[in-house]
Amino acid sequence: MDISSYVGGHWVLPDKTAKPVLSAVTSEPVARIGTATLDTELLLNYGRLQGGPALRELTFHERATRLKALATLLNDHKAELTELSFHTGSTRADSKIDIDGGIGTVFVFASKGKREMPDAKVLCDGDIEQLSRSGTFVGQHIYTSKPGVSVQINAYNFPVWGMLEKLAPSLLAGVPAIVKPATVSSYVAHACFKLMVESEIFPAGSMQFIAGRTANLLDALGCQDMISFTGSAYTAQKLQSNPSLLKKGVKFSAEQDSLNATVLGQDVKSGSSDFNVFVDEVVREMSAKAGQKCTAIRRILAPENLVTDVIDAVSEKLSAIRIGEPSLEDTDMGSLVSLEQRSDVLSKIETLSHECELVFGDKALDINGASVESGAFVSPTLFHCAEPLSASSVHSVEAFGPVATVMPFKNTESACALLNRGGGSLVASVVTSDKTVAADIVATSAAFHGRLYFNNTDSAKEATGHGSPLPHMTHGGPGRAGGGEELGGIRAVKHHMQRTSVQASPDLLSGITGNFVPGATKTESRVHPFRKTFNQLAIGDTIVAGPRVISLEDIETFAHFTGDTFYAHMDEAAAKANPFFPGRVAHGYLLLSFAAGLFVDPDPGPVLANTGLDGLSFQKPVVAGDSLSVSLTVKRKTRRNDEYGEVRWHVQLQNQDNDQVASYELHTMNAY
Ligand code: NAP
Repeated sequence: MDISSYVGGHWVLPDKTAKPVLSAVTSEPVARIGTATLDTELLLNYGRLQGGPALRELTFHERATRLKALATLLNDHKAELTELSFHTGSTRADSKIDIDGGIGTVFVFASKGKREMPDAKVLCDGDIEQLSRSGTFVGQHIYTSKPGVSVQINAYNFPVWGMLEKLAPSLLAGVPAIVKPATVSSYVAHACFKLMVESEIFPAGSMQFIAGRTANLLDALGCQDMISFTGSAYTAQKLQSNPSLLKKGVKFSAEQDSLNATVLGQDVKSGSSDFNVFVDEVVREMSAKAGQKCTAIRRILAPENLVTDVIDAVSEKLSAIRIGEPSLEDTDMGSLVSLEQRSDVLSKIETLSHECELVFGDKALDINGASVESGAFVSPTLFHCAEPLSASSVHSVEAFGPVATVMPFKNTESACALLNRGGGSLVASVVTSDKTVAADIVATSAAFHGRLYFNNTDSAKEATGHGSPLPHMTHGGPGRAGGGEELGGIRAVKHHMQRTSVQASPDLLSGITGNFVPGATKTESRVHPFRKTFNQLAIGDTIVAGPRVISLEDIETFAHFTGDTFYAHMDEAAAKANPFFPGRVAHGYLLLSFAAGLFVDPDPGPVLANTGLDGLSFQKPVVAGDSLSVSLTVKRKTRRNDEYGEVRWHVQLQNQDNDQVASYELHTMNAY
């Protein structure tokens, strides 16, 4: 199989300088990869001048709809991608993490894009800031798409997930991607990429693919481009220090290796169900993907009196793991990705053995259906480090395979000291049922880790796993882990956009964001807005209704009807004694109900349902004799499906002196 690059809308075949990529299991050639040259100018122009503008023509919702189509397409091709992945040493279960996990991630971004982003091209960040006394000059932070490219350099261990978790947020952000997979598993990424690009679901130029090296691409990047790198700390440092990137301030986000740890809480008894949760989690993390996960557990911290029990329990489970040909149903753990990777892991094991005692592993390997000579198989390997506070390699050497070290701690404080010795990690986990232990670890260690994962018997059934980054939660960690951040829902989309603070009049800001801004011009239309379809409604369309005088009888009727006879509505003296009220006041919910009574148009029409309200605040008490007016203004419209969309209305309630007494954002579903 030839692994072509996809540049400027064309496939570029490997040339005669190309090298074979070997199967991790048989060492036979699986693919050929490499070209001596790369047309960097074409690559960048196709992305920046064709892909970017076409993507930015689409709204966030239109991009999200395409992401869903992309995920649905890939879902239909899982079997062939899994078949290819066997060559990388991955079992079927490993491929589920990579392939199903990657597709699931795209589905989540599609759905979040629709539910949490506007059907627009500009994303607002936070609320309007009042910058002037009378509200004629206001501020708003906004995000807009960067007009550059996102260069996505991926590690070898998750050729599908690693590509999709970067691609989905960048496409949703409207930024075209240039994907560069790791060579050794590039044929899996290539097969997945080919399906996506040939589907033409996204516009031409939205995605390109580099098979092999990046030539002078990094030197040619500018301030609107960005690099998302995943891989070793060594490569990250090398790429990040490129003088051209530094000079031009090109954004570089790094997801690196880390010495992730897990802690067994001091409250846990040997052999208890929490203890078993801990042991299962450790064994799963050591063996899944043969330990080639950036989030895998490398350091196992146990209370000193439980170290022997932990070693025994983990070793017993490790000894039951069947290593072998990854496609066989009765194989539990496949191989590393290549013989070179095995040499690297074996040399790291050798380094660790200077400080630690080997307690499991290094046995003559019994390989299920394959040969240890041609396949990159390695035994799960467990070390014990008796003096971890004075040791160094256990806290700094990443053996990227099924290798971990058990180490003792005296109390939660010393467990935290060890946790933090990794110098920053992607994830740390703790098995405990003690709230104080959990809170103490957060106070001392959260700042050193991108993710803290607590598990115990209560959560074990549904817990998502120490090593699983989730699209909803941020992935990335400080220090050694690279300091980057990916995923985390819409945060990941924002990483591809520029945040700009915009200061302007309410009218101009409404025009810029497509949202009604309080203080902007309202349009009182002759037709009641409830008689207008979703498509007919315009931002700023307003109805003003009222006034209605509030009587004491209204307040009492409402109190007895609802059962809300709180003293502030019923007892003049008690209400007066309260610092907030001049005497008996109307219920806030009475005001809302009267407001609805004033503004609704009762007959069946385009308004299908009131689905909620946000940001309700009562600003001034209303007493008997006050009169209430309401103004209802179209603030934002969002298409939801083929039949209806959501309209958000800015609602203001005023008294006879034009003082605002309450405001909120009302949500309705309106037919097109
Ligand atoms: P790697 O050797 O650092 O390579 C990472 C990527 O960088 C590959 O695509 C590689 O391409 C590319 N690369 C290397 N030199 C380059 C250069 N001069 N110019 C442009 N690209 C270059 O890492 P790996 O062996 O693939 O992955 C294993 C490591 O990644 C482990 O340390 C693991 O902890 C880490 N990792 C971290 C995360 C995370 O999310 N934090 C996730 C997965 C893995 P070639 O393959 O063509 O050399």
